[in-house]
Amino acid sequence: MVAAKKRRKRARKEKVDLLIVNANELVTLSGDNQEPRTGKHMHNLGIIRRGGLAVKDGRIVAVGETSEIRKGFRAENVTSASGKIVMPGFVDPHTHLVFAGSREDEFQMRVEGASYMEILDAGGGILKTVRETRKAGVEKLLEMGFKTLDVMLEHGTTTVEAKSGYGLTVKDELKILRVTKRLNRLHAVDVVPTFLGAHAIPREYKGNPQGYVDLITEEMIPKVAERKLAEFCDVFCEKGIFSLGRTRRILVAGKSHNLKPKVHADEMSRLGGAELAADIGAVSAGHLLFSSDDGVKAMASKGVIAVLLPAAAFSLMTGRYAEARKMINLGVPVALGTDFNPSCWFESQQLVIAFACHFMRLTPAEAITAATINAAHAIGRAGEVGSLEVGKKADIIVLGVPNHKFLGYRFGVNLVDKVVKNGRIVVDREASQSGFFF
Ligand SMILES: [Zn+2]
Repeated sequence: MVAAKKRRKRARKEKVDLLIVNANELVTLSGDNQEPRTGKHMHNLGIIRRGGLAVKDGRIVAVGETSEIRKGFRAENVTSASGKIVMPGFVDPHTHLVFAGSREDEFQMRVEGASYMEILDAGGGILKTVRETRKAGVEKLLEMGFKTLDVMLEHGTTTVEAKSGYGLTVKDELKILRVTKRLNRLHAVDVVPTFLGAHAIPREYKGNPQGYVDLITEEMIPKVAERKLAEFCDVFCEKGIFSLGRTRRILVAGKSHNLKPKVHADEMSRLGGAELAADIGAVSAGHLLFSSDDGVKAMASKGVIAVLLPAAAFSLMTGRYAEARKMINLGVPVALGTDFNPSCWFESQQLVIAFACHFMRLTPAEAITAATINAAHAIGRAGEVGSLEVGKKADIIVLGVPNHKFLGYRFGVNLVDKVVKNGRIVVDREASQSGFFF
């Protein structure tokens, strides 16, 4: 009698693939996610205490208190997040994922006082990586990109943007973008491609930047667009690299081929990249260390997302960081990325959050918003990822800390306990954890 009653009760529960229950904090970031979050809304994490969620067919089907989730759903695979936090997988909206070689010798030169631009002018920096990437075969690039994505995933990143820009010939830029496309197919992490042929002036165009801009606008962009190899077009707008006028020309050409504009702006000098990003209707602008107040205000009025990259600023060793507080006060939506590249070899958004808190005074809540939902907006994926809401992809991380304020506070170790990608547990470090002291 009792058993039959129990069976009937169980039958009313919907069977799903995975339940995550008992989270000390379920950080949902739910709410109005039509637009990226600005100002005080960056603090609103939508936390559910003792939260849980249900996952089916790779999607989130329910979010709420554990008791409600338990009432409505059952699964063979049930994960307890007791004493831990559960949040959306990190979205990294700015990486240079595909390249060959490394630049540790230049790192030492920079430690000893050489500047980034001095190294580039001497044929090093990006140009060294270009030489190595041109020589590398597709298999080599795939292998290296795959390993990087593994590390990112282990650190909780489930979606990344990846820029080309170490080829700088038609053939090599296409090669990099094809590798990017294959990585997206082969690896669990979702990879969103950006064309960055305007990353540097290659050696063969030294003294003829106009000739290289012609190559980008007349050959590279049409071919990239025709083959559907990128969604965005980016330019390294910087004194001595791509001027404002050339940046505009390239981004306009990109737009005419449906490549949405992004800019590397005001990283090493106040050139007016922020103003240009607003004027041209860029989705986002990256770096912004030297941006003017007018530029920041223009970005706010046009809703251009500031993708701040404190790990890149850290690697420049100048002690200067973007003025994130001012940007937030003025209403600019702020996102955070690693800027993973061979001069700034950081894979972890956890470390970026720590830098954002320490050097730019973002609160942990603001930094979490910046590395999830706002980052998703910066790469056109906010409808799919960046928050834990019914209907979205089940890209979820469990972190071995009791509340979200530990992000940024405890750093230098990997806090990830589990990573769920498209509804499947793809990283499970619980067994290897030495255990947290709570
Ligand atoms: Zn970059």
